[in-house]
Amino acid sequence: MSTATLSRCLAGLFAASTLLAQGPGYTDTPKLPSGWRVHDATRPRPPAVDPGPAPAAPLPVPADATRLFDGTKLDAWTGNGGVAKWTVKDGFMEVNGTGDIQTKAEFGDCQLHVEWAAPAPTKGDSQGRGNSGVFFFGRYEVQVLDSYDNPTYADGQAASIYGQLPPMVNACRKPGEWQTYDIVFRAPRFDADGKVLEPARVTVVHNGIVVQLDQPLLGPTAHRSLPQYEPHAATGPIRLQDHGDPVRYRNLWIRPLDFARQAAPAPAAPEKK
Ligand code: MG
Repeated sequence: MSTATLSRCLAGLFAASTLLAQGPGYTDTPKLPSGWRVHDATRPRPPAVDPGPAPAAPLPVPADATRLFDGTKLDAWTGNGGVAKWTVKDGFMEVNGTGDIQTKAEFGDCQLHVEWAAPAPTKGDSQGRGNSGVFFFGRYEVQVLDSYDNPTYADGQAASIYGQLPPMVNACRKPGEWQTYDIVFRAPRFDADGKVLEPARVTVVHNGIVVQLDQPLLGPTAHRSLPQYEPHAATGPIRLQDHGDPVRYRNLWIRPLDFARQAAPAPAAPEKK
C-alpha cells in the first residue's frame, strides 16, 4: 500500500469514527436561537427514565372531554381524498401508508390526551423507527418516535418539539407498549397585520413525566430549516402523521381551554358616594 493510499484510508476511518461519535443528525443545518443547529448531531440526548409499567387499559376520559377516537371508528377524522383510511382493529387505529389524518373539528388552546404504541418487533433505526407525530393546527409537531434505545438527533426524539427542542428526559417505553402524551397547547397570537404577539407554547407529559414545560415554539415544524411563523386562524385541526411506520393510537380526547376566562379581572367595586 502506498503512503497516499494509506493516508486516504486513515482519513476515511477518521471521518467514519467522527460520524459515529456524533451520532445521527446534521452538522450543516442553520442555528437555532439556542445556539444548537437544527437536528444537531452533537446536541446531547436526554437521559432515559423508566416511567414504570404501561397502563393495562385505556385511561379514564374526563366528563367534559371531546373524544376524538374511542377505539372503534374514525368518524371524527378526515384524510387523503376526504376519508381517513388508517386501519382500525382491536381498539386501536394504526398508520398504514394512506397518509396523514386530521380531525374534522378545529381547536385552539387545548389539553390533548394521546395513547400510542411503537411497532414491535422494531424495524429501522433513528428517524426510521416508529416515527409519527401529533400536529396542532396541522403544523406544530410534538414528535412521536420509538426512542427506546434508539439514538437519533435530540430535537427529533419522542416528545421533542420537532426540530426545535428535545424533551428534558427520554421517558419512552419499549416498542409495543402503550404510552401516553398529555399535552397542553396554547395557540400563538397574531395581530391584525399577522405579526406574532405571543408564540405558541406547549407542555408535554410523557408517561406521567413532565418533559416539556410551557415552552415557546419558534414557529411551525420544519425539517432541516428554521421555523417561521405564518399567521393563521384561532383554531385548526389536530393532525396525526403517517411517516410510513405502523404506529398505533387509541383513546384520544381533547379539552378546549379558555385561558382568557381564568385571567378575567374581577368586576370593579361600586364607587362609594
Ligand atoms: Mg414525526
